[in-house]
Amino acid sequence: MKPDLFESPDYFMLDDLLSEEHKLVRDATRQWVKRSVSPIIEEYAQKAEFPKELLGGLAEIGAFGPYIPQEYGGAGLDQISYGLIMQEIERGDSGIRSTASVQSSLVMYPIFAYGTEEQKKKFLPKLATGDLIGCFGLTEPDHGSNPSGMVTNFKDKGDHYLLNGAKLWISNSPFADIAVVWAKNEEGRIHGLIVERGMEGFSTPETHNKWSLRASATGELIFDNVKVPKENLLPGKNGLGAPLGCLDSARYGIAWGAIGAAMDCYDTALRYAKERVQFGRPIAATQLQQKKLAEMITEITKAQLLAFRLGQLKNEGKATTAQISMAKRNNVEMAIKIAREARQVLGGMGITGEYSIMRHMMNLESVITYEGTHDIHLLITGADITGIPAFS
Ligand SMILES: Cc1cc2nc3c(=O)[nH]c(=O)nc-3n(C[C@H](O)[C@H](O)[C@H](O)COP(=O)(O)OP(=O)(O)OC[C@H]3O[C@@H](n4cnc5c(N)ncnc54)[C@H](O)[C@@H]3O)c2cc1C
Repeated sequence: MKPDLFESPDYFMLDDLLSEEHKLVRDATRQWVKRSVSPIIEEYAQKAEFPKELLGGLAEIGAFGPYIPQEYGGAGLDQISYGLIMQEIERGDSGIRSTASVQSSLVMYPIFAYGTEEQKKKFLPKLATGDLIGCFGLTEPDHGSNPSGMVTNFKDKGDHYLLNGAKLWISNSPFADIAVVWAKNEEGRIHGLIVERGMEGFSTPETHNKWSLRASATGELIFDNVKVPKENLLPGKNGLGAPLGCLDSARYGIAWGAIGAAMDCYDTALRYAKERVQFGRPIAATQLQQKKLAEMITEITKAQLLAFRLGQLKNEGKATTAQISMAKRNNVEMAIKIAREARQVLGGMGITGEYSIMRHMMNLESVITYEGTHDIHLLITGADITGIPAFS
């Protein structure tokens, strides 16, 4: 792969709106990605393997629980810092960002927000250092966009719960130490349970043959009469709103992360277009390539402003689920379109692993589907503005 020459586009001088802390966190993450992710990521993606050697570095830069308070091992940062960290990691690879998102928003967040003091003290510091890696089990083979139909269930057996069912498409499941699993109790109410590797009847087979997020491990969670200790139930919130609260946080991170992938594609295409000579002049001198590049920077700038404002709203505790849906949907679509256009700017070279664009493009096919599909986010906006849900 080519050396990482990335220069961040900032057409509307967004840096002027960031605090010194934001810039420090962003720049430290950027340097780490250049140093640790870029040199190895293509090889791992080609062999379809998650680079476990990055886990320690992710923990060191504060990517595991950026906004979790320091007393529980988190970095105690604000939501804009969290977003900037996700942006920079996804600039390197969406799969690595997925691991950080899952650990922070889908594992640490529910334990922090819905867990007991004992659960927080037991799990959060180790998750922050990467000594424990977590995954999040909501999706099932027959229930993806409609998780309320889930059939995974647990029964109260007096001194423990008995868990049965299966989850599919679970990021990090093949090597995770713990899983935050969403299952129905005997009354049909959804609760979160912490399932630990080694519990009898719990297995995590890997899903192979993915053309997308190849540097991220995806798998199943299978529960065959798993005895879960009662102290592993998250008591603070139940019902579908509990997992959806986690998804709000993760989707917010994706809205920023997708900008990173788009910036990398744009920066690569711009550099290539200025260097590549055809018909005696750089292809950047042609109107057709300028149109592509000008539209890319326009869309990136709009996405940056959307994410920044959403970050302010999140910091103030005012961001709504529908606003987060709009930002996730818009920014991921923006990124995937830019990846496709940027790939063309590079001609044949665009399809090779010498450049990051094709990998980003394939990764974004997952990002546009997980954490709520592109369609479902549109329906969330539709329901919000009309007051009429059109899901079923
Ligand atoms: C790489 C990867 C990693 C993932 N990681 C996780 C994870 O860590 N944890 C987890 O729990 N899940 C995870 N997922 C699952 C992901 O969230 C689901 O794939 C997603 O929610 C969609 O569910 P589905 O694939 O079952 O598609 P379906 O729900 O079957 O949807 C298929 C199509 O139908 C459309 N559709 C569905 N309902 C409607 C409707 N009412 N109106 C119009 N169109 C509709 C959808 O938009 C989509 O285009 C991951 C998925 C992938 C691909």
